Amino acid sequence: MDGIEREAMEYDVVIVGAGPAGLSAAIRLKECDPDISVVVLEKGSEVGAHILSGAVLDPVGLDAIVPDWKERGAPVHTPVTRDEFRILGEGGSVRVPNKLMPKLMDNHGKYVVSMGNVCRWLAGVAEELGVEIFPGFSASDLVFGEDGEVKGVVAGVYGLRKDGTPGPNFEPGMELHGKYVLLGEGVRGSLSKKVIARYELDRDSQPQKYGLGMKELWEIDPAKHRPGKVVHTMGWPLNSHAGGGGFLYHLENNQVYAGFVVHLNYENPYVFPYMEFQRWKHHPEVAEVLKGGKRVAYGARAIVEGGWQSIPKLVFPGGALIGCSAGFVNVPRIKGNHNAMLSGIEAAEAAAEALKAGRSGDELSGYEVEVRTGAIAADLKPVRNVKPLWSRFGIVGGVVLGGLDMWVASLTGGTLFGTLDHRKTDAEATGRAKRHQPIEYPKPDGVLSFDRLTNVAYSFTNHAEDQPTHLHLIDPEKPVAWNLPKYAGPSARYCPAGVYEFVHDGENGGARFVINAQNCVHCKTCDIKDPQQNIEWRTPQGGEGPNYPNM
Ligand SMILES: Cc1cc2nc3c(=O)[nH]c(=O)nc-3n(C[C@H](O)[C@H](O)[C@H](O)COP(=O)(O)OP(=O)(O)OC[C@H]3O[C@@H](n4cnc5c(N)ncnc54)[C@H](O)[C@@H]3O)c2cc1C
Repeated sequence: MDGIEREAMEYDVVIVGAGPAGLSAAIRLKECDPDISVVVLEKGSEVGAHILSGAVLDPVGLDAIVPDWKERGAPVHTPVTRDEFRILGEGGSVRVPNKLMPKLMDNHGKYVVSMGNVCRWLAGVAEELGVEIFPGFSASDLVFGEDGEVKGVVAGVYGLRKDGTPGPNFEPGMELHGKYVLLGEGVRGSLSKKVIARYELDRDSQPQKYGLGMKELWEIDPAKHRPGKVVHTMGWPLNSHAGGGGFLYHLENNQVYAGFVVHLNYENPYVFPYMEFQRWKHHPEVAEVLKGGKRVAYGARAIVEGGWQSIPKLVFPGGALIGCSAGFVNVPRIKGNHNAMLSGIEAAEAAAEALKAGRSGDELSGYEVEVRTGAIAADLKPVRNVKPLWSRFGIVGGVVLGGLDMWVASLTGGTLFGTLDHRKTDAEATGRAKRHQPIEYPKPDGVLSFDRLTNVAYSFTNHAEDQPTHLHLIDPEKPVAWNLPKYAGPSARYCPAGVYEFVHDGENGGARFVINAQNCVHCKTCDIKDPQQNIEWRTPQGGEGPNYPNM
C-alpha cells in the first residue's frame, strides 16, 4: 500500500475491533471449531479503553454467546428496577406512562452495565478459548488479494513523524492475512468506510444517519442512588433547532451514567451539542440527582441512527461488516450492543461454515441472509420509521407518530407509513449561518457543568505530538475560506473535545484553523458532520485516544 515491506501472519479469521461485535464473533468462531485461528486487533491501549455505551444491555446477545454468563461472573449485576420516560420542559417534566409505551421499549429484564467492563470480560472468555487479542494495535489499512478480495489488514505501524517519515521508534507493523476479515470497528469505521466505497455496499441503502452521544460517569450521594433506575428524557433544552435526548442510568456503587445524544441532522450551524448536554444537567430533575456528587469520567462517541433502511450490503469478497460498522442500533430503544453481538455471532457462524467447506476470500452470503431475516431484522424493522418521523415532525409530532407506528408494528407486524426515507446525510443537512441565529449558552458552573477541555481531561485521552495528524483535511484551505464564512465554523462547536478552533490572530484579524488532534476522543463526529465532508478521520497509531475506566 505504502511501499513498506512487512512481515505477514496468517490466520483463518482476522477481526478488527474488540467491541461487543468483534469479541462475540471471536468467541463464536472458537465455539464452532476450536482449531479455527482467530486474531482480534484493538486500537485502544487495552480492551475497553475506547468503549462508550449508555449502557442498558439487552442480554439476548450475551445469552447466545455465553449462556452461563451469570455463573461465570460476567460484570452484569444491576437489573433494571425502574424505567421512566419523561418529556422535559424548562422547569418540570411530564412522565409518559409505561403502559402507553410499546412493549419493545420496556427496559425491565435488561441490565445497567459498564460496556467497557463487559468487553474486558468477553476478551478474557475469548482468550481462554485460544483467540489472540492484540490491544494497542490499530488496523490502518486493508490488504487486497489478486482477485480484488480483502485478504487482510496492515496493523501495528508506530513511530511515524508528523511529516510521515520514520522516527527513531519506527515500527513498520505487519500484515495480518485472513481467509476472512470481519470489520467490527464500530460507528463510522475508517476501514469500513473504505470497504463500503470500494465495493459500493451502500448503493441500494438510504444514507446512514448519526447522533453524537456524550456521557459522564458520576458518583452520587448514596441517599439518592437507586440501583437499576433508568430514566430517558426528551425535550428541554433541545427544541426545534435540534433533536435528541438524555439518560440517567443508576448502576452499582453509587454510580450514575448521565448522558445526552444530539441527532446530527440539525440545520442550525450554531448548535453546540456539548453545551446542550451541559445545560441539560441543570434541569431541576437532573440536577437533583447529581447535586452533591462528582463527575469521575467523560467521553463521547457518535451513534448510528439510520436503522433498517440504512444498512448497507454486509458482505464483500473476503469479509463482512459487523456491529455498528454496518449500523444495527435500534434508535428508539437506544440500544445497539445486543445486535452488535448477534451480528458478530451470525458472521462467525457463516465464516466457520465457509472454512469447513474449504472456502476463502469469497462473500459470506449466509450472514447477509441471517441478518435480513433473523433476530436483527425482527428488532429493527418495526422501528424503521421512528427516526424519519422524528426528523420530519420534531419532538411532539415525531414521538406521537413514531409511538403509534411502533404500536401498529408490534400489534400487526405492519406499519402506517411503509418505509420512510432519510432524505439527506447529516453533513448535507447543515444549513448556512445567514439563515440561522446564534445561540447563547450559559457558562458552565464548574459544579454540575464543565467546560470542554476540563471534561476532556476526564477521558484520560492522549496522543503523541510527533505523528501524522489523524484528522486529515482534504482541502486545507476550506475551513477558513468556506466553512467559516458560510457555516460560522461549525467544527468549533460540534466537536465534543474542542479539537477544532478558529484562531483570529492573522494579518488584519484573519483566521487560522487549528487542529488540536491530541484531544480527540475518537467519536468520529467531524468525519460525519463537516458540511463539505472535508475532514477525514484516519486511525492513529495504536494505544492512543481515550482511556475510559468503566464507561
Ligand atoms: C452515548 C451512547 C449511548 C449508548 N447507549 C446504549 C445502550 O444503553 N445500550 C446499547 O445496547 N447500546 C447503546 N449504544 C450503542 C452501542 O454503543 C453500540 O451499538 C455498540 O458499541 C456497537 O458495538 P461494536 O462492537 O459494533 O462497536 P464498538 O463498541 O464501537 O467497538 C469497536 C471497537 O473497535 C475498535 N476499533 C475501531 N477501529 C479500529 C481499527 N481500525 N483498528 C483497531 N481497532 C479499531 C474501537 O477502538 C472499539 O474498541 C450507545 C451508544 C452511545 C454513543
